Amino acid sequence: LLFWAFLGTTDADGLLYKDPKQPVEARVADLLGRMSLAEKVGQMTQIERLVATPEVLEQNFIGSLLSGGGSVPHKGATAKEWMAMVDGFQEACMRTPLGIPMIYGIDAVHGHNNVYGATIFPHNVGLGATRDPYLVRRIGAATALEVRATGIQYAFAPCIAVCRDPRWGRCYESYSEDRRIVQSMTELIPGLQGEVPKDFTSGMPYVAGKNKVAACAKHFVGDGGTVNGINENNTIINQEGLMNIHMPAYLNAMKMGVSTVMISYSSWNGKKMHENGDLINGYLKGTLNFKGFVISDWEGIDRITSPAGSDYSYSVKASINAGLDMIMVPNNYQQFISLLTGHVNSGAIPMSRIDDAVTRILRVKFTMGLFENPYSDANMAEQLGKQEHRDLAREAVRKSLVLLKNGGKSSDKPLLPLPKKATKILVAGSHADNLGYQCGGWTIEWQGDTGRTTVGTTILDAVKTAVDPSTSVVFAENPDADFVKNGGFSYAIVVVGEHPYTETKGDNLNLTIPEPGLSTVEAVCGAAPCATVLISGRPMVVQPLLAASDALVAAWLPGSEGQGVTDALFGDYGFSGKLPRTWFKSVDQLPMNYGDAHYDPLFPLGYGLATNATKAY
Ligand code: BGC
Repeated sequence: LLFWAFLGTTDADGLLYKDPKQPVEARVADLLGRMSLAEKVGQMTQIERLVATPEVLEQNFIGSLLSGGGSVPHKGATAKEWMAMVDGFQEACMRTPLGIPMIYGIDAVHGHNNVYGATIFPHNVGLGATRDPYLVRRIGAATALEVRATGIQYAFAPCIAVCRDPRWGRCYESYSEDRRIVQSMTELIPGLQGEVPKDFTSGMPYVAGKNKVAACAKHFVGDGGTVNGINENNTIINQEGLMNIHMPAYLNAMKMGVSTVMISYSSWNGKKMHENGDLINGYLKGTLNFKGFVISDWEGIDRITSPAGSDYSYSVKASINAGLDMIMVPNNYQQFISLLTGHVNSGAIPMSRIDDAVTRILRVKFTMGLFENPYSDANMAEQLGKQEHRDLAREAVRKSLVLLKNGGKSSDKPLLPLPKKATKILVAGSHADNLGYQCGGWTIEWQGDTGRTTVGTTILDAVKTAVDPSTSVVFAENPDADFVKNGGFSYAIVVVGEHPYTETKGDNLNLTIPEPGLSTVEAVCGAAPCATVLISGRPMVVQPLLAASDALVAAWLPGSEGQGVTDALFGDYGFSGKLPRTWFKSVDQLPMNYGDAHYDPLFPLGYGLATNATKAY
């Protein structure tokens, strides 16, 4: 015992890397020195849990797993079932000779959105409208707890894209067209990971223990600037533009200790980001001093083409040499492992590059305490979807609402806030009672879904609980004008909008509201005073809706807590959201962002009417 105490190691094996009292860098170096090439390559390999078995993990020394969109143990799986699955994989990794824990990643991009029963927060565009970075930090902290409630330690968030064109299918994942707003919202990172200490060195990874998760700033860089908003396309901009618009949020992310950075599918001036060594090795790891790990996007390296065309061997070499540390393979891991190993043996990829990659991955794992706490904590299960988090999401929803119009159609008086006491009111529209639509993409399914897909409150549910018990609430999804005229309604709330989409499927050149959205609004609003609520991931062609409605609210993709919408509609809280994006008059103007010479918006960035409230924040 005395002997081990003298050496400064406490572990029974006497292995320095297993001693939590040793500095992280010493532990990393010690462990790296013990690893074979196969073990190093395994650390750099991230596979989808659908292809993972304990044997696969053990035999290939796999360093990381993920659940892609909608990849769950089974529909409706509980927190404990998730934990059992994750721990089962972890046991296999811990059985390997060096006992290196794997890290499990998931797209928790608006709460723990793949998981049934989790709190679903508004998508980033709505959070941008709140202009409340501290709120976003609290959302990060709640999300970390819910992710840990399933045994998972890594979230592929935040997306710090600066969306410059709302025709892009991922625009709702972006906080704003304005890089300053995006920069302010990097507060999600200390929420997810914990706040860095005062003497912190920018660029180092930081995760404050087992109630926190590793974050991922994505997608590096210029993902929101592609031509015509076409997903995964080419961002044509000079160096100054790239640095001034798309890069600044990465500087904030570095200061906050973001642990990982994901590379963008897109190209910059024709060169795929997944092979851009100048920006990854040179700028991110060099100039910005990033010391965490760089991960590819899902099959991101597969998109790289050699001068002769598609060639996976070339993709592996080009991406690793450009500075990628971990590859989200995610399915054909045998092919990846054998090609990477071959490139190292032939000298096409230097061993120093492999050691740099593995050092970074191990640094994150040691920093976050994974070696000491590789398994889930059963006590965390109660964090999933808990009331405190739902209250926070509700607060976020009401702060995210942007009031675009209030009165002026049939009378000069504002329509909102609506009275809670009325004889009879109508709730209508395709999105009034549809939780799936309200949550948008990246919810339960990769592409989102329709109906009661998870636990939450629709806007109709929320109206029913908000009004006075004496008020009768009638719901009709798509009523005709006569029904409304003969109904004797004091007023109506109509909820319409976009249907869920994710990534390329959301690319849209015309941005019109799908029918019967407008016909419902026209039928209802022609026969009763009406407030229209628009559910969308971005500004849409909205003039017909504006003309028909007495009041119009942009509610973005609010998530599971519909009561946030009624909090403001009925005047408990005032409308306070400000447009995080320019609202265009016509798609022909796009791209059009604040500061552009041809700036001629319907509503400018920052627009939003206010109403009085009975409660203060
Ligand atoms: C997306 C990433 C996401 C990854 C893993 C990709 O299709 O571009 O944002 O993190 O899938 O699900």
